[in-house]
Amino acid sequence: QLFETVREMGHEQILYCHGKNPDIRAIIAIHDTSLGPAMGATRLYPYVNEEAALKDALRLSRGMTYKAACANIPAGGGKAVIIANPEDKTDEMLRAYGRFVESLKGRFITGQDVNITPQDVRIIKQETNYVVGVEEKSGGPAPITALGVFLGIKAAVEFRWQTKNLEGMTVAVQGLGNVGKNLCRHLHEHGIKLIVADFSPEKTAEIKNLFGATVVEPDEIYSQNVDIFSPCAMGGIINSQTIPQLQAKIIAGAANNQLDNERLHGQRLVEKDILYCPDYVINAGGIINVYNEMIGYEEDTAFKQVNNIYDTLLAIFDIAQQQSITTNDASKRLADERIMKARISKNQL
Ligand code: NAD
Repeated sequence: QLFETVREMGHEQILYCHGKNPDIRAIIAIHDTSLGPAMGATRLYPYVNEEAALKDALRLSRGMTYKAACANIPAGGGKAVIIANPEDKTDEMLRAYGRFVESLKGRFITGQDVNITPQDVRIIKQETNYVVGVEEKSGGPAPITALGVFLGIKAAVEFRWQTKNLEGMTVAVQGLGNVGKNLCRHLHEHGIKLIVADFSPEKTAEIKNLFGATVVEPDEIYSQNVDIFSPCAMGGIINSQTIPQLQAKIIAGAANNQLDNERLHGQRLVEKDILYCPDYVINAGGIINVYNEMIGYEEDTAFKQVNNIYDTLLAIFDIAQQQSITTNDASKRLADERIMKARISKNQL
């Protein structure tokens, strides 16, 4: 049964990690290493059962393969889940986990996700060098992610309206956190009008003062008469309730997993003639940042790689148009093509 699931999803290796003292149960899923070592963060979560944990690891690791391939970085996709209550987390448990990561000798490189803090990563690092996100030579991923989203907006505008000029356009930004705020700055500098929403009155006031943004209530952001909607807060916000409200012709934002149901809502957006920038392509600044931290951060290299987001999105829009498929499906085809090429050149077919 497990081999059947793994075959269907295309995984290379699933490692079940178990220790009695300290008690630890973890699953490391390596989806694909054709392009390079599998990168994927470690999540600690009290999953209801083993099946739920495995499902999460399989789904998220496959997503990482596509993300890295679309970002054009020499890395593959992986993910690890530790099955535990956050209150039961101990240093011993994290170190035991680190030894499992070390046993893979670099096939899997990890970092922090839900319920794992930078301090936890430091503890894991006591047992393995295959972790990233401890030293932040780059100043964190948000500025580079915001730049990537801005370049994605430029690509979408060019494809949709055949213009490189953004001046006078209006963008609705949902969420003014680390990415949203940096994005607003880029947009403002290019003469774009901003309509923004956040639960935090301090954050909306700051963006209003800095960039003259119009502030609306969080539930009003979807129905604004704008050219572009930029989700930079939570996942699942493109759904059956919000799609009918949207007036924007482009969706281009940083939030992960924006489509509540990838197939259904991706198709609804096509029917509504809204150009959707696949989230894991446009927000690749995050993984590009992590990858560069791993190889020794050089600002030039990282920013050059982020510039690729622009060309990659244009290629994805073309594939989607030519093959009459959603942009999400087009990005998967592009990723599959890049992976296939790597396998051919390594004679791994
Ligand atoms: P953040 O936590 O700094 O900011 C999120 C902001 O959204 C907060 O200010 C919060 O108040 C606001 N918010 C939450 N729900 C909202 C709602 N319904 N309406 C309006 N505002 C709402 O997060 P961030 O680092 O800016 O990341 C934003 C999104 O982008 C997240 O989904 C994150 O997973 C994704 N992402 C971030 C990075 C990165 O480099 N930080 C990289 C890739 C993807």
